[in-house]
Amino acid sequence: MTTTTLTAPATLQTLIASELAPRVAAIDLEAYYPEPFLRAVGALGGFASVVAPEFGGSGKGLGEAIKTMAEIGESCLSTAFMHWCQTACARYIQLSDNAAAKRTWLPRLANGSLLGGTGLSNTCKSNCDIERYLLTARRVDGGYSVNGALPWVSNLGPDHIFVTGCPVEGDGRLVFFITRCDQAGFKLIDAAHFTALEGTRTLACQFREVFIADSEVLAPPEESARFLARIQPGMFLAQLGMGIGLIRDCARLIENVGKTHAHINRYETDQADELRAALAAAEQETFRLAARLDAKPTDDELPALLTEVLRIRLAGGELTLRAANAAMLHQGARGYLRTAAAQRRLREAYFVAIVTPSLKHLRRELARREGKLDH
Ligand SMILES: Cc1cc2nc3c(=O)[nH]c(=O)nc-3n(C[C@H](O)[C@H](O)[C@H](O)COP(=O)(O)OP(=O)(O)OC[C@H]3O[C@@H](n4cnc5c(N)ncnc54)[C@H](O)[C@@H]3O)c2cc1C
Repeated sequence: MTTTTLTAPATLQTLIASELAPRVAAIDLEAYYPEPFLRAVGALGGFASVVAPEFGGSGKGLGEAIKTMAEIGESCLSTAFMHWCQTACARYIQLSDNAAAKRTWLPRLANGSLLGGTGLSNTCKSNCDIERYLLTARRVDGGYSVNGALPWVSNLGPDHIFVTGCPVEGDGRLVFFITRCDQAGFKLIDAAHFTALEGTRTLACQFREVFIADSEVLAPPEESARFLARIQPGMFLAQLGMGIGLIRDCARLIENVGKTHAHINRYETDQADELRAALAAAEQETFRLAARLDAKPTDDELPALLTEVLRIRLAGGELTLRAANAAMLHQGARGYLRTAAAQRRLREAYFVAIVTPSLKHLRRELARREGKLDH
């Protein structure tokens, strides 16, 4: 887990071309964690949009974060996902009422000198009865003692932080808090290997009587339902940055192979211009909702906004799979080579479909909201 720093080129585009594009196969196949690139993105201000100017951010908002993520995702979905992890972590802290935590953590998350993640899959799934909670917190003097284990949290390392949330014993309501990966009782375990996303430093997180001081609590039980309602729409919506980037690249892959194979590929059901048209509609809805969320909706407006987010997150996830599948079919055997982009994009696309909220989670949650659950 060594770090080297880069002198960041002047623009994100040149940084991607010089530092990320040559390493996408290493990220995919050799579990190379692109830490220097991530830190350089931070130095360029690529994480700053979700952080207010008073805490070192640009305050440009969620839409800007999605744009940056999409630009990264055109080359590498793993790295776009880590951009999501970092900006989601910062955004949770930004949206909390904990002023001290904002002062402590946000400036460094915004400039990439501190890297962070989000361990909220289990929290979100348990909160809508898909699985059981894997962590529990017990109230102790000055904070909480946390026990349990999360199987998969990404963008972590010994000097990183992440946000998670779990129920409080004897209370039942949730507490959301920041965990430092170097704190006593906490352990990172490299336990799983994946079919893609190997370079994302996705590790298991073991908590044994980990003391979380009140100063690291983002939402105590009495505020946690409101906090979750505030963070969730943006958390889910922003994941579309990964999909948008990947779909753009898939359309390009289709176009490129069309230069020599149009005589046969023209009979494929999905063509580049059709995918681009569907993407344009999805982008329009994504950025419309991002602007609504940036405009600080009231608590009363959030449930309906979340439903709209779930719909576009589902449509965007489905379009991601469709585009990657089409790119693979258009590219044929050249796309099936071990380091070919098309097969990597196909494996990466499935991540958009399975990361929480997965497509199956989204379909169930939308059915629940429409009163169509079987039980
Ligand atoms: C590459 C990767 C990165 C991820 N990064 C994050 C992250 O940063 N933050 C976060 O909160 N979540 C993360 N997740 C979790 C993700 O969001 C989903 O919650 C997870 O993929 C399970 O979703 P599911 O719909 O398959 O769950 P389900 O359909 O409910 O099934 C999950 C199944 O996997 C089994 N399972 C759980 N852990 C393991 C394990 N270690 N080995 C084998 N089987 C297991 C469970 O028992 C269960 O049967 C990541 C997952 C992956 C694959």
